[in-house]
Amino acid sequence: MYGKAALNLGLTKDDSKSAVQRNRAAFLAEVGAKCKSNSGSSLWPLVMLRQIHSDIIRFVEPPVESQLVGDGLVTNTPGLLLAIQTADCLPIILVDPKSRAVGVFHAGWRGTIKRIVEKGVGEMRRRFGSRARDLEAAIGPGIHGCCYEVGEEVREKFESQFGYAAKLFREVEEPDPVREKYPMLFLTARAPGHSELPKKIFLDLVEANRQQLLAVGVPAKSIEASSLCTNCRTDLLFSYRAEKGKTGRMMGVVGIRP
Ligand SMILES: [Zn+2]
Repeated sequence: MYGKAALNLGLTKDDSKSAVQRNRAAFLAEVGAKCKSNSGSSLWPLVMLRQIHSDIIRFVEPPVESQLVGDGLVTNTPGLLLAIQTADCLPIILVDPKSRAVGVFHAGWRGTIKRIVEKGVGEMRRRFGSRARDLEAAIGPGIHGCCYEVGEEVREKFESQFGYAAKLFREVEEPDPVREKYPMLFLTARAPGHSELPKKIFLDLVEANRQQLLAVGVPAKSIEASSLCTNCRTDLLFSYRAEKGKTGRMMGVVGIRP
């Protein structure tokens, strides 16, 4: 449906299963998730989740369960590729090179409020003895503050949870064509100092997750974020919002070489 060049990696109703399987195999080969043996080469198992915007993190070890549900995966088993599927939400990867452990997490606004990435750091500490200062974090492409309009209720939820919530939101006054055409109608009705123009609120999800990583002790220099906004760059990326749901899925993946 999206064409071969689009490289959709998610099973959606608009793409065929065989095309997605082909794309996934090409993707795994490209990222080097391949074992060579005498009888040829085989691809690493791809571990995926049924993502539910939760803070549930699954520890992965062989034999890998199918039908995992949750929004985070962690492992210290080499030769597995952990994957999060996105099309606007952020994929966030954590790597601990010291204890050779990795994790990948799915952070939309719901998962971010539930502190999925903070909990991910905690889970890696608990399972693998990872120290936050040794972790390296990568925040993949997602919808950025330029485009991620949210409702007032989302801002209120963040404000009730995070001391730094104010710096995550940006407000823009929406021009009102009726007011512009008939300004006299509104002059007397406006309370001094209060604009009555409707406001649009934008959330910076990248900064929200960067703050969580910093809060638990991941060094700023070890956090890298993609500069690409999915909603701005539909020429390159899938965006659920920009493409009104009729879109593919990207994958954020991490694994440990055997
Ligand atoms: Zn944008």
